Order: sequence, then C-alpha cells, then structure tokens
Amino acid sequence: MNSLRIFVNPDHPYFEEIAYTMKIFTQNKKIHLYWVQNINEADLTIGSNPLFDIEVNENFYSGIKKSARTPNLNFKNECLIRTDSGKPDYLSTAFYMLNSLQEYDCHSRDDLGRFSFSNSYQYRFGNVQENLVQYCFDKIGEHPKLAHLQSPPSASLVFLSHDIDSIHGALLQDGFYLLKKGKPHLIFKLLWNELLQRPDWATFDKIMKMEDAYSFKSTFFWLVNRGRLSKREVNADYSIRSPLIQSAIGQVAASGWHNGIHKSISLESFRDEINECGFTPIANRNHYLKFNLPAHYDEIEKAGLKMDASLGFAEAYGFRNSYGLPFTPYDVTNRKPYSFVEVPLTIMDTTLYRYQKKKASTAAVELIDFLEKNKFNAVISILWHNNYFTRYKFQGYLALYKTLLAYFYENRWRSIQPEEIIKSYTL
Ligand SMILES: [Zn+2]
Repeated sequence: MNSLRIFVNPDHPYFEEIAYTMKIFTQNKKIHLYWVQNINEADLTIGSNPLFDIEVNENFYSGIKKSARTPNLNFKNECLIRTDSGKPDYLSTAFYMLNSLQEYDCHSRDDLGRFSFSNSYQYRFGNVQENLVQYCFDKIGEHPKLAHLQSPPSASLVFLSHDIDSIHGALLQDGFYLLKKGKPHLIFKLLWNELLQRPDWATFDKIMKMEDAYSFKSTFFWLVNRGRLSKREVNADYSIRSPLIQSAIGQVAASGWHNGIHKSISLESFRDEINECGFTPIANRNHYLKFNLPAHYDEIEKAGLKMDASLGFAEAYGFRNSYGLPFTPYDVTNRKPYSFVEVPLTIMDTTLYRYQKKKASTAAVELIDFLEKNKFNAVISILWHNNYFTRYKFQGYLALYKTLLAYFYENRWRSIQPEEIIKSYTL
C-alpha cells in the first residue's frame, strides 16, 4: 500500500475536520496516511492560504459551527465550495456532502417529518445518481504531488437487505388485487395459508434460497413494535416474540445471513427496542427511513450500534450524500468521527413502485444502466421488502430483484455483510 505524509498545522482552527476528510480520502484511495509535524518532511501540505498544496476555505468551517449551520455556503449556483480566490475546494465540498450538512437544521419536512428529496441540492441540480464525493477525491488525487500514488479503482460490491414491515398483509392487499383482476378463487388459498399460520408474505426462506443460488447473502431488519400510530404511520403487523418470527430469525442467523433492528416510529429509545429483539443487533435501519440529522447519528452512537443503513431518499434512487461507499460520519458538535459506519441506501423497491410508479420492466433497464455507471468505487445498498417477493400486488418486482441478482452474478459483484463493512469502513 502506498503511503502519504501530510502536514496540516496542528494549530489550524479546523485541523480536526481537515484530518477527518483526509482519512476518508486515504481510505478511498487505499493509501497509508501519516501526519508529520515538520513541513519539510511532508509529501503534501494543507492550509488556509494559497501557499499550501491544498487550500481550504476557512469560512466554510466557521459556518458549520454556528447554530444555523448550513445556509451560508450551501450550493446556491453550483455543487462546489470555493476558496476566497475562487479555486475549487474539493476537500471541503467532500466534507459537506459526505455528512449531509444540507439536512442539518432544515425545518422544511415532508408529511412524515423527513428531509425531502425536493429540498435537496441533488434535486435542484439533477445529480442524485452521481457519486460526486468520488469526483472530489479523484480531483484531489490529480494533484501533481499525489500523481505517483494512483491505484486502480476497486470493483463495486452489493449490500442486500430486507425490511420486514408486514407478513400478514397478503390476505388484504394481494386479496384486493386478485378481486380487481377477477380471480377471487385464488383468495381462498391466501386465506387457507393464513389459517395454517403460513402467511404468504413470510417469504424469508424463499428469499434466502433465491440469493443462495447466486452465492449472495443479505440482512433482514426486524421491527419490535407493532400496530398503527396514525393513518400514515404503521409499525409491524407481527410480534417479534411470536414463534414464527423467532424461528425465522434463528434460521437467518444459522444460515449465515444477518439480522438487524428496524427502528420503529414509536418514541421508544434504541436501547428499549434493542432489549426487545431477542438477539443483539449491531446494524439498524429506520422504518420509513424516518430520521433527522444530526439527531439520528447521535442516537445510533448512544445506542452503541456499529452500523446504520438508513441514509437514502424515499423518493429517488441514487446517492443521498453523493457518496457510493460506506463511511464513518463526523460528529460536528463534538468535533470527531462517530464510532459507527453509515451505509447509504442506494436503491429501494418502494421508491420505484410507489413514488416513481415505474413498471418493473422500465425500472430494470434504468437500474442496470445506473449500475453500469457505478461498477467501481461503490457499495450499492439495495432494499427489497419481503412482500415484494409475492406474485400478486407487486407483480414483476420479484422478477426485477432476480434480474438484479443475475446482473451482479454475471458481472462478478460480491455481496458484503455488516461485519465486513464495519471492519473495512470504521475510521
Ligand atoms: Zn419499514
């Protein structure tokens, strides 16, 4: 592995922030990073004026410390932070994007209280499918003093996952679909399966067999709270303590797949919910992707979880923080990296079916095109709910998932599990 000796004045007011981004940069470029105290020993120097190899905009960092942390520099005319003299500041731009600073203290929220895609720079500039942080890192890597460190880009990996919201919905939802399609006789089968306690949406075994056929493994995220909170907000329709679910969780673990917690929308803390799981989760994804930053990161940290997989837009597939890889987020208040890894969510079935209302065949073409553009430097995180594996209401989405698996298999993508992600991407 190449090594790089970097000098940043230890008295620089934003040493911590610069050091953090350079750690992610060297992780991305597979370079060993050394800090040197003597400027003459450095391969590269970083500071706040043009005398340094890499110049950063100090005003940007003083802006993020103020109570209204984002507004002064948040990409009004371009997705780039510049120095006072107008030069691109790729390091600070990467810091801003990686940590989703556009979402901090944003008061405009959607009906579920989430930061909405329409409020984002990705929406305004039409670049949600672009790995812009990678672009910033590549530009930093083009510095003449770093040219000798070029390493080939790494092949992308896939993180597959399933949020388990409902297992008893088939009778009502698939039943309604069958009624509309004039096939009421098939409803009796759904009813019969429910009575035998073999609900049609309890597809865990089928999912694992399908993935195993391609040598892939995935993660199942389980809800511990059940019931309806409002017309729009519903937790699980199953009890995590039921023999059916506990047996499924046991089977998932015994087969080498992974179990995580799917934080419910109830007001309970992570700790309370973790205690209800019946297993010890290290990874989480929030139900409905409902969270606010930075509070969510603080809660993950406090709960002692090692991985979170919530950072995706419900309304669009692509990169919510403009980065393709898992990363350790930065705690802006305490000025240090958190101790968990965030795995941004790239593609979700509900985005395509519900928000974008795409036919599965159209989605397949678009997704393959997107994956072709991201064959390198990414861990593509895919969420397919268990109910999208049945044949009726979500017709075509089972085949779409298989199409994606076949694509990954034929193009030699490997699936990655939480343990390996945590090991590889914790700073
Ligand atoms: Zn959910």
